[in-house]
Amino acid sequence: MAEFKSSATDSGAVESVPTQAFDVVVIGGGPAGMAAALSANKAGARVAIVEREQNLGGILRQCIHPGFGLSHFKQELTGPEYAQRFIDQVRETDITLFLDSMVIGIDSGKPAKDTTVHTVTLMSPAGMLQLTGRTVVLAMGCRERTRSEIKIPGSRPAGMFTAGLAQRYINIENLKPGSRAVILGSGDIGLIMARRCTLEGISVEGVYELMPYANGLRRNVKNCLDDFGIPLHLSTTVTRVIGHDRVEAVEVSQVDERLAPISGTERIVPCDTLLLSVGLIPENELSVAAGVELDPRTRGAVVDQSLQTGVPGIFACGNVLHVHDLADNVTTESERAGAAAAAYALVCGAVADADAAGPGCQLTVSPVGIAGYALPGRITAVALTKLNFRVCRPVNAACVRILADGKELFAGKVRAFKPSVMESFPLPAKVIQRTLDLGASEIVLSVDPVEEA
Ligand SMILES: Cc1cc2nc3c(=O)[nH]c(=O)nc-3n(C[C@H](O)[C@H](O)[C@H](O)COP(=O)(O)OP(=O)(O)OC[C@H]3O[C@@H](n4cnc5c(N)ncnc54)[C@H](O)[C@@H]3O)c2cc1C
Repeated sequence: MAEFKSSATDSGAVESVPTQAFDVVVIGGGPAGMAAALSANKAGARVAIVEREQNLGGILRQCIHPGFGLSHFKQELTGPEYAQRFIDQVRETDITLFLDSMVIGIDSGKPAKDTTVHTVTLMSPAGMLQLTGRTVVLAMGCRERTRSEIKIPGSRPAGMFTAGLAQRYINIENLKPGSRAVILGSGDIGLIMARRCTLEGISVEGVYELMPYANGLRRNVKNCLDDFGIPLHLSTTVTRVIGHDRVEAVEVSQVDERLAPISGTERIVPCDTLLLSVGLIPENELSVAAGVELDPRTRGAVVDQSLQTGVPGIFACGNVLHVHDLADNVTTESERAGAAAAAYALVCGAVADADAAGPGCQLTVSPVGIAGYALPGRITAVALTKLNFRVCRPVNAACVRILADGKELFAGKVRAFKPSVMESFPLPAKVIQRTLDLGASEIVLSVDPVEEA
């Protein structure tokens, strides 16, 4: 591993920006970026990771609770322990690290000969630098939705935090955000913070959830709320923030089936802190500026089966592609992206997948029924393809079906589905071939409820 320190110039003249060349430039040093970089390096590519923080690890550095590594390492680790295993591996390689360096733009040059070179511009305390890469892997993670995105009425006092910010204050900065907290949203971060606040001596008045079901994993509801006697109020939301300088209370109301507050159900809950765990948004500003098409359902890039976006040579993985509940899944997906990016780079832009069917295979994948999204959104090769999806609401019994041209090509077993769990489905090559034989341009992933939860 080489750590780069760029040197600032002291001449007054306008100087060209220093440039370094790589096969694969990975943006983001979280679990996605590290796994992608390691697998690209293993494939023989010259790899750089650019990370805006001073350390690798991404958001896992603040996730000090256990629950990581169960599938990847067959061992229960904390977030920092899980991240450290990859940091150690990166440090044993010749991957070049650009830490404390923020990528501010990706410029995809015009095709020259048979390759496209991407220029990644970054800023660090030492100045501006450009990295060229035959391929770029987007691994920038996601950010949390804030109060303004869900438009909670009321005053604007101190004491309102996103749950992840409070997690950082407590676990990294050793700061206590308040003494009496209400948590809005039952996603995994909210549930984990309910337990963390309790352990740190902050009284948690309750977790309030707009939907009629908890949004986090079942194991987190049990381990973080049930085991600590923290109440979960479903179909309830915060309808007003009360307080001048500091939060003094929140007003909560029950909601109807259209998620609108029910008049007359308002209740005042005294507290000095409101934590918001109301969803994550993939960090795709750089991707959009680079011309990458986004899927409005995931807010991540539209990718093909090798996780390549619509811009040749730009790949995406991890939370910037779609929000994952388990870091282990991020690792597996990102290893695929890194290997594909290296293969593409090392053959100078030629189609990397030996099984690719060429221009003859151009299928879109569309989710219907209660499938909230399907990933990949495009299939360009006749090969076994991993399909990921999430359902929009919980059901006790539903069936996954694959359709093309109105014909059912595959039907899975009837089983329960929950929105908190990212599902994975192996789409056989013969189903893709059958779709092509039918002359269809679309594969439909349909998840159809048999019985409601
Ligand atoms: C606040 C929060 C708390 C979470 N808590 C948990 C939890 O407790 N348990 C759990 O299983 N999962 C948790 N998750 C989910 C977790 O994010 C994923 O499991 C996993 O960490 C995603 O990995 P990633 O590499 O895609 O993203 P991240 O870990 O977020 O890493 C992305 C990295 O990209 C860097 N980056 C972004 N933009 C740029 C740029 N322009 N230039 C340079 N670097 C950039 C960031 O600094 C960051 O280090 C949490 C997520 C969030 C947002």
